[in-house]
Order: sequence, then structure tokens, then C-alpha cells
Amino acid sequence: MSATTQGLKLTNTLTRAKEPFRPIDPHNVRMYVCGPTVYDFAHIGNARPVIVFDVLFRLLRHLYGVDHVTYVRNITDVDDKINARALRDFGTEIEAGRVTLNEAIRRVTERTADQFHEDVAALGCLKPTFEPRATEFVLPRPDGKADMVTLIGQLIERGHAYEANGEVLFDVASMPDYGRLSRRNLEDQQAGARVAVDAHKKNPADFVLWKRSSPEEPGWESPWGRGRPGWHIECSAMSAAFLGETFDIHGGGLDLIFPHHENEIAQSRCAHGTPVMANYWLHNGFLQVEGRKMAKSEGNFVTIHELLRTEKFGGRKWPGEVLRLAMLMTHYREPIDFSVRKLEEAENVLAKLRRKANNATAGAVDPSFIDALSDDLDLPQYVRLLNATDLPEPALVAAAALIGIDLSAIETDIDVANFVERRLTLIREKNWAEADRIRDDLLAQGIQLKDGKDPVTGERVTTWEVKR
Ligand code: AMP
Ligand code: ZN
Repeated sequence: MSATTQGLKLTNTLTRAKEPFRPIDPHNVRMYVCGPTVYDFAHIGNARPVIVFDVLFRLLRHLYGVDHVTYVRNITDVDDKINARALRDFGTEIEAGRVTLNEAIRRVTERTADQFHEDVAALGCLKPTFEPRATEFVLPRPDGKADMVTLIGQLIERGHAYEANGEVLFDVASMPDYGRLSRRNLEDQQAGARVAVDAHKKNPADFVLWKRSSPEEPGWESPWGRGRPGWHIECSAMSAAFLGETFDIHGGGLDLIFPHHENEIAQSRCAHGTPVMANYWLHNGFLQVEGRKMAKSEGNFVTIHELLRTEKFGGRKWPGEVLRLAMLMTHYREPIDFSVRKLEEAENVLAKLRRKANNATAGAVDPSFIDALSDDLDLPQYVRLLNATDLPEPALVAAAALIGIDLSAIETDIDVANFVERRLTLIREKNWAEADRIRDDLLAQGIQLKDGKDPVTGERVTTWEVKR
């Protein structure tokens, strides 16, 4: 831990105030961020929380030490949207009995998760320390880590949940300060509620923890029949499994405050009997198009994949670092209007910084940069400092690297990242001959690959160097 750790301040949605950050255990700073539901390509709005919390992860590692931060971002691989997609894409195979629904679901989630990883790696995001999949935390586990069925059982036992109509529901009235995060009070909600459509609920705000599955639907055997979990319970289980009952930071986009995060808090606190789930709740603002939130349902979205690999947006491809920098030039809590102009602006800034860096290698990060980032991740100020600094080149390269921008990278015409990704897949498939061929072809073009291990996750990583 360094002296500068004292300076970190974060805006906490729980208190609506900018507060000094004090971790529960500085030797293990713990952060949870809600991850993607894997049924389709992620759009560039979905990339915003991934990038914002990647910067926070990098800052925490810098302040507290690389081995003293645990970052968990889940993968939601159980959801009715996923089932619908599996039926759409594999309907005929399922009908013909060639694949089961479960197998089709597995294929949809695997392929979408792989795509997500490729996309966010191209945006310069580090892998989180752990990336648990919801389906692996439904039933009690041999390793004794927290799971959804046990949590729901505890909620029933403690009088916070009840069974009705084949569902298990959380009883919001059983929690006196339900609504604290989103500052909604239950009376207002009840007064505004229409005639009870859900007659089986004690309170219209009660939400589903477990629901029955029909024989065709995916399901797990549980004390409440064969069924599947509601959405919110998975994050309560997976955060407890890796970070404990109470941890430091919980993050996600603004739209998750209610109901998702409110309900996570209710479940976790009531199951564990704790006064808080996480001490600091951070929420990023929306990425917008012409003033409206980018969303699948609005039809105004462009996928990360399309931006990187096709000419759909502005008639050209956009490098991952340009997309990343464009995102970092607005404060994480402010809305961003996503436009070609914004990307061009980021591209100009990046080109200017690269010229200024003059191919230097990274030195030490100057404290002025840490101060900017420590002030509630003031990234616009950080980028201004990068632009204006007259520090030596190695200090500029180090400061850019701290926010995941690589100024030492020499631009090439060859999409090396794509080849590296393909080669890693070939290695996983033990197709050594093809993997070696990619390596040799790149070398012939002056690009040398270097295999190594990620110091945090121990996973295989490949970097490259241009030898021309
Ligand atoms: P979803 O797949 O809709 O659950 O979203 C995954 C993550 O992306 C959540 O943290 C959302 O808050 C975030 N998100 C979705 N749309 C946007 C957007 N237009 N701008 C910023 N964040 C978003
Ligand atoms: Zn969540």
C-alpha cells in the first residue's frame, strides 16, 4: 500500500456523496461488477461499464498492489432471452432430436461469451480475477462456495421469502430499509401500483427468487420443484462465493440501480444478516445516441464487433484503442453521446500522444496523474494532463498505460490481435501446426510473438513486438 491510497475518493450511490475510499482489507480490495447476459453480441454501450471498471481495477492494483485486488465480473448464462435465442437458432435441430435444448443453450452461451472476451480484449480491458458463470452457482457446490439454492433457503428460513404459485418470492415488507439505494419507499410504490395483477404476491414489489420450469424449459431440481433462478439472486450468490458477505465496491450501469442492485442488496443482507452488502456502489452513465440510451430494444445500437471489424459505423473500422479513449474522455458518471465525430476526436488525441511519446518505453507514473484518477476517476482531466504534460516521454507512456492506453504500440496494417486470438484458439484445440504457421507468417512480416503468463490469472497470454 502506498501513501497515495489515502487520496482515493469515489462517488457512492448509497450516500449520493463523494467519499474517501477505505477498503475493509487493504491486502484484499474486493470489487464486483455485473457482467453480460450472453445471448447476443454486446453493443458499445455495454462496453462502457467494462472499460470504466477496468480503469478502476487498474488504479486499485496500482495503489494497493497487483496481488491485493480481487475483481469479479460474472457471466449470466441463464436467462429467458438465452432460451429464446437457442430455440430460434437451433429450433429445427431440437425438433429433429439432433440436439437437446440444453446443448443448444450451451452453444449459444459459449459462442457469445467467446465473442464478448474477444471484443473487450480489443478494447484493452484486463481479465477480471474471477469470471464465474451463473449456471455453476445454482445448486450447492462440492467446494462449499455460496450458491443460489442455499441462499434462497436461508431467506425462507429467516422469514424474508415465501412460496406462492410455484414461485419463491422475496418479501420486501420484511426488510425495513428496502429501497435505500434507489431511494424509493415502499408506500409510494404501493400507492402507485395498479390493481394487483400478481394476486399471488403479498406486495406488488415482491420479486422472484425461483420459478418453476415446464418440462421443455431448462431447470434444476430444488426444494421448490424443478425450476430456475430469478435474475437478481445470481449476483448475491457469486459475490458471496468470491468476495464474502460484505465487500468493498459494487458496480454497473445506472440502469441497474433499480431493481437489480436494490434487490441484490435485499437478498444478500437478509440472507447473511449483515448491515451492508458492499460499502461503495458505483454507477456509470449511459452511452447515448442522439440523446437516447443505446439499447437493443431501441434498435439504435452498434455492436463492438461491428465497430472493430466492419465498416457499418462511419464507413470504416475503428481501432479498439480509439474506442477506449473516446469512452475515457467523458466522466464516467456523465452521459456520452456516441458519434463519428467523437471517435475522430479520440483518434486525433491518440495520434498526437503517440507522436509525443516517440516510441519510448514506460517509466514511472507521476503523482499528478494519480491525483486526477483518485478524484472519482477524473478521466477527462487525466486526458487533458496527458495532452499538456511536458514530463519526459517515459512518464507519458507510463501514465497512458495506467489507463490501458498503449502509446508504445506501433500501428501496423496487420490486425495482429486477430491473429493472436486465432492462434490461441488453435493452441487450445492442440492444432500446433496451424498455430506455428500463424506465428511464422507474422514473423516473416516483422512481428514477433511472445508467449507468457498473466501474473494475476495465470492464463496464457501473447504479446508482440514489431521488429521492422
Ligand atoms: P445488460 O446486458 O442490458 O444487462 O447490460 C450490461 C451492462 O451494460 C450493465 O452494466 C448495463 O448497465 C450496461 N449498459 C447497458 N446499456 C448501456 C448504455 N447504453 N450505456 C452505458 N451502459 C449500458
Ligand atoms: Zn448483478
